[in-house]
Amino acid sequence: MSNNLKTVATTSSHSLKISFLGGTEMVTGSNFLLAESKPDGQKFLIDCGLIQGTKKDEEKNHDPFPYDPKAISALFITHAHLDHIGRIPKLVKDGFRGPIYSTPPTRDIAHISLKDSLGFLERDAEDGKQELLFTEADIKQAMSQWKVFGYHEPIVLGDFTVVFRDSGHILGSAMVEFNYQGKKIVFSGDLGNSPSPLLPDTEAITDADYLIIESVYGDRNHEDRSERRQRLEDVIEETMRRGGTLMIPAFSIERTQELLYEIENMMENSRIPLVPVFLDSPMAIAVTKVYRDYPEYFNKDANEIRRLGDGLFHFPQLHITLTSNESKAILETTPRKIIIAGSGMSNGGRIIHHEKNYLPDTKSTLLLAGYQGLGTLGRVIQDGTNPVKILGESVPVRAHLENIRGYSAHKDSDHLLEFVKGTADTVKKVFVCMGELKSSLFLTQRIRDYLGVEAVVPKAGETIEIKI
Ligand SMILES: [Zn+2]
Repeated sequence: MSNNLKTVATTSSHSLKISFLGGTEMVTGSNFLLAESKPDGQKFLIDCGLIQGTKKDEEKNHDPFPYDPKAISALFITHAHLDHIGRIPKLVKDGFRGPIYSTPPTRDIAHISLKDSLGFLERDAEDGKQELLFTEADIKQAMSQWKVFGYHEPIVLGDFTVVFRDSGHILGSAMVEFNYQGKKIVFSGDLGNSPSPLLPDTEAITDADYLIIESVYGDRNHEDRSERRQRLEDVIEETMRRGGTLMIPAFSIERTQELLYEIENMMENSRIPLVPVFLDSPMAIAVTKVYRDYPEYFNKDANEIRRLGDGLFHFPQLHITLTSNESKAILETTPRKIIIAGSGMSNGGRIIHHEKNYLPDTKSTLLLAGYQGLGTLGRVIQDGTNPVKILGESVPVRAHLENIRGYSAHKDSDHLLEFVKGTADTVKKVFVCMGELKSSLFLTQRIRDYLGVEAVVPKAGETIEIKI
């Protein structure tokens, strides 16, 4: 099988090259180049994501791209998380003028995310920390190059037919499948933790020749997710019985909408008290509107419930607080309430103001529904530090702390393996990317051992050749 793959040194007119430029040996900064080997062949990028991590890692976002952006034929986007889209405006700033292809929800959420990320970049630039990665004009230019295609709608570009397949990770998320002279190369993007309350399951891939797969949870399995709805219900009930406030730090894309969906269902089925629910994050509010715009991207159950009521994310108890004055006024309302706000790890955003107000209250609860990164306020609180420092003040933690796992939007190790198994009969090689090295190596070994399929972890910056 290894005969199919040679290094770049031997090019042939019937071959493709894949360069692993970002999201390789690391989770973030997804950026892959698929190119025809022949002269003047097409050059496609898959994702152009932001590198996220330590300051030193993030400085790499300013490095020149390892290819000429002007020479790229087209860019395909798997989904709207920043680590898959965050450097698009820089690519445009550096001269890329080709089309950008994605599903419609990905384009809409990407526009919101890029504008939001520019806000952060501008604050950093004001501190004199670094120059701006891109400007508002670059975002505008990028959006003008954007073209949308639904799942399964073929995009024909020369000898390529490209198709988006549902990856079930966030609204509009896609795997990108390239069909070229009878061969199929699939870039997985991020793969969803199916079944999701809102989205259809990840589509099975059964006939790929080459697979580039994510491995964020390549070395771990999630806790059982079946109990999470019951746990959420219990936490809401207990907090309301005490007469306290329930704070939920949440990511703006997918996590917030999943929580709103579950809370809305619980209220409509009289399973929890009808207390006010504040959605207190301008970005989450904007993204939730996109979710409302694309009900055809929901799964069957969510669509059924949407048709019975007056649309999802729309119920009498839900209060949208767009301005900072509206956000501040939440403190004046009844203590029995639920606040969903960003950021998901409490390292900024409006949630920290609520934490400052309600962490000292013994009746209130802080519910951590996601991974809390090292060094974030969420992690500090989760680790039991007391008091904590918020906005320069020492804040005692007297509120209840609850953790609900199982809200991850990524497949775990067993389910990644099961996904690869679907195409084990046809796949010639699996390239394991978008994970920490330890995680990628672990999944690679499992794919080899359990499925007998050839799998490797490419080196960052490596180019491989596929003979067609
Ligand atoms: Zn993602």
